[in-house]
Amino acid sequence: MAVPKPNELLKIDHKPPKKWWMDTKPTFRPGTYSYPSKPKNIEILDMWNPREWSPTDEDWKLPEDWKERILEGFRDLLKKYRSLKVFMDICVRCGACADKCHFFIGSGDPKNMPVLRAELMRSVYRGEFTKAGQILGRWAGARELTYDVVKEWFYYFYQCTQCRRCSLFCPYGIDTAEIDLAGRHLLNLVGCNINWMMEPAANCYKVGNHIGIQPHSLKDMIDFFVEDIEDLTGVKIEVPFMKKGAEVLFVTPSGDFFADPGTYTFMGYLMLFHEIGLDYTMSYYAAEGGNFGFFTGTIENAKKLNAKIYAEAKRLGVKWILGGECGHMWRVVHQYMDTLTGPADFLEVPKSPITGTVFENARSTKMVHITEFTADLIKHGAIKLDPSRNAGIKATFHDSCNPSRGMGLFEEPRYVLKNVVPEFYDMPEDTIREKTFCCGSGSGLNNDEFMEMRMRGGLPRANAVKYVRDRYGVNTLSCVCAIDRAVLQPLVNYWVPGITVTGVHELVGNALVMKGEKKRTVNLRQEPIPGMEEEEGDV
Ligand code: SF4
Ligand code: SF4
Repeated sequence: MAVPKPNELLKIDHKPPKKWWMDTKPTFRPGTYSYPSKPKNIEILDMWNPREWSPTDEDWKLPEDWKERILEGFRDLLKKYRSLKVFMDICVRCGACADKCHFFIGSGDPKNMPVLRAELMRSVYRGEFTKAGQILGRWAGARELTYDVVKEWFYYFYQCTQCRRCSLFCPYGIDTAEIDLAGRHLLNLVGCNINWMMEPAANCYKVGNHIGIQPHSLKDMIDFFVEDIEDLTGVKIEVPFMKKGAEVLFVTPSGDFFADPGTYTFMGYLMLFHEIGLDYTMSYYAAEGGNFGFFTGTIENAKKLNAKIYAEAKRLGVKWILGGECGHMWRVVHQYMDTLTGPADFLEVPKSPITGTVFENARSTKMVHITEFTADLIKHGAIKLDPSRNAGIKATFHDSCNPSRGMGLFEEPRYVLKNVVPEFYDMPEDTIREKTFCCGSGSGLNNDEFMEMRMRGGLPRANAVKYVRDRYGVNTLSCVCAIDRAVLQPLVNYWVPGITVTGVHELVGNALVMKGEKKRTVNLRQEPIPGMEEEEGDV
């Protein structure tokens, strides 16, 4: 799908439309919406109203009782989640969140202001569930749930990446991402969902990873990585799968197995585990950290996928779980795991077998982030690193929304990076750590048909990258999320050419000095390392 050129996309009109927002309908223009789920994926997940349809159709083939279903679901959520009821009632429309959403900044569409995105649902709450709304109608900001409202919800609830940046600026702590999740759940009750969310969730449920790779193919892929590592370093490593009684279960997003540049990050993990002699195992059954079920807003889906990881840890008899560079896996583990699947009392509080560090922060979930683990190794001098193997790299770090705002992981990745690259520069303060700008493609919106909105939503992030590129010559954007690794490269190619996207452990793998290795002349991407070119006579 052709995306307009950057100078075209930059003509953003932030003037409000002449008509009242309730009278403005969305236009389903290619590039601004995601395709609906294929019926088979809805069936696999045992969800509602599988059918062929398109958002551009007049008739969305909703069930006859669509309105009752949604209102009943809404009532249930309000009863179950006091937070949602509070979020519906307490917004004072101060506007502090209005310009904090990357989709509003990049599109100028007022319904992408977090306050108005939430108002799409609040107005129905007032109209259907409050006396004032029923009597005063529009005067009280209330409206009825109509067919057109469902269409509007679909358009705007799938234009929110649930990044939670807006909530950081709200004086009342209203979490629009949670409202968006509730909205998606209600849409799901009548079968209005998107394929790029449902298919990965269905694949994870059925096969164990989001692209549905069968175990034998996964094994072949891993064998290729092992061969590549041996070619590069001369060191032969082994990757244990389904090993009962191992100390640690390693779970990472499956994007690390099958798509560059995630594959280089995966090679970095394998090299590290070999070098420190970690007693670990991976699992074909829990071969996916990412939780696409969470994006559906339907908690049972998130639970099914989170539970697989813990069930496998129990079956294999490991002591604790080590998690790779993933985004939403960490949000689910950190914010929801305890009430979804846990507490995981059958596991032990994670303790590094190399340094003896006890990860008290993981006392409940029993799951440690790989950058916490590696930062601890570095701090204790347990691994040898040579940053000159990353010569020429001037790196910056993108805080992915989920590990940063969702779990407070700010310093560990930076600490690791500063130890493995020669130069590191942060982007401006208002665009990093808890205030980070989203990649524009999270929460199941990383599909090709949504590309125009992805480029619009990614504009603030790209702009901050441009700042460090132009000021310090930064040429590498590193991050700890598989979706980000996949989507940031097209984003920077579009807005800030000349930037390479990497995972943190790709750079660790480059810098790691392994016992018995041969002289390295190329990095994990097989690119020559400046200053270490092959000399005549080298073999
Ligand atoms: S910042 Fe909070 S209270 Fe203010 S408009 Fe946004 S959601 Fe409402
Ligand atoms: S959660 Fe993120 S994408 Fe959604 S409205 Fe808030 S800032 Fe925008």
